[in-house]
Amino acid sequence: MSNSDNNQAGEGIESRVRRVVSGTEAYDIHTHLYDPAFGELLLWGIDDLLTYHYLVAEAFRYFDFPYEDFWKLSKSEQADKIWDVLFLQHSPVSEACRGVLTTLQGLGLDVAGRDLGSIRAWMAEQDPAEYVSKCMEVAKVRKICMTNSPFDDLERPVWEKGFERDPRFVAALRIDPMLLDWENTHQQMAGWGYNVSATLDESTLSEVRRFLADWSDKMDAQFAMVSLPPTFAYPDDSPCGTLIEKAVLPHCRENGLPFALMPGVKRGVNPLLQMAGDGLAKFDIANYERLFSAHPDNKFAVTALSRENQHELCVAARKFRNLHIFGCWWFTNIPHVIDEMTRMRLELIGLSVTPQHSDARVMDQVIYKWSHSREVITRALIDKYSDLEKTGWVVSDAELERDVKDLFGGAFETFCAR
Ligand SMILES: [Zn+2]
Repeated sequence: MSNSDNNQAGEGIESRVRRVVSGTEAYDIHTHLYDPAFGELLLWGIDDLLTYHYLVAEAFRYFDFPYEDFWKLSKSEQADKIWDVLFLQHSPVSEACRGVLTTLQGLGLDVAGRDLGSIRAWMAEQDPAEYVSKCMEVAKVRKICMTNSPFDDLERPVWEKGFERDPRFVAALRIDPMLLDWENTHQQMAGWGYNVSATLDESTLSEVRRFLADWSDKMDAQFAMVSLPPTFAYPDDSPCGTLIEKAVLPHCRENGLPFALMPGVKRGVNPLLQMAGDGLAKFDIANYERLFSAHPDNKFAVTALSRENQHELCVAARKFRNLHIFGCWWFTNIPHVIDEMTRMRLELIGLSVTPQHSDARVMDQVIYKWSHSREVITRALIDKYSDLEKTGWVVSDAELERDVKDLFGGAFETFCAR
């Protein structure tokens, strides 16, 4: 081995990056998982893995029966159909299918036998609380951020009643119904004792602020968040624009909370697919540039759904230090695009980024989402540090550990604390 691919201990950069990335526990900054205290809201196990909406959409490519026949089935009957068509009748090469196999393998199960019955039998014996710990351990995830909506009728009562928090699960206050459907949401909020009307006058806005303060406190929210349609405009005097400008951003500013934006989703492109029926479209970055520019004292965390928006979003992050980019979300969460996005981000904005979040909806999914992404991020980092070594700059183990910790949630924690 030449000097250039060795550190002091004689270990090459490739092996060192692999060791550090595989040994660094992640803070998963956006998921749809729940603190175990939420009981059945936390999904886990083989039937939830197989009926994940990514797989439902893929299965319908092959199904030849009416949509409604599928939705009439029980969850395990749906899982049977998906297993049959996506794993037995065709090889499971798609990312979401491969993810199921990586997950089962990570849990120590044999997938070669293609025996769904024995997988189900094993799952039925698991204790939910221990299962959460096992998944986090295998995935090397130290902390999980949930997505928490006061507008969710199943979730809200749990918060209102109160419960002992699991310190591994932190909260994010999700406010889509308020920003995207004020006409209906204001009535719901009025029913909870907030003196709000359809008109966004001063007194209504101050009550919205009180609502945001109450729920941020109740949840100990790390940030507020919304998923925005590609048509989002700023500035804009719609209810959404007014609420963001006059309630959400002042609330976030005064409490030092980032506002996380997830733009690009087109809801219900095919409503017959239900939750699997959302699509995407490009957005116009100029709206976001105006938003970041007008609010230098607000912090924004953004992940974009469309591959076509990724480059300009990276460039925006070079212009606005109040913007933190995170994750490869949903349709971009495939190795080919994660690779492209991760390299582009490292090359344009260095280590001031969170390359991945899992977006897991089923507890077990953290295993594959992190395993697959760790592999892609490892390869990108090996190339970056190898390029540095060619100049004579050899990164030390301590520097490597610092950098990787930042990429796996540390940089985001610093951004939140700023
Ligand atoms: Zn999500």
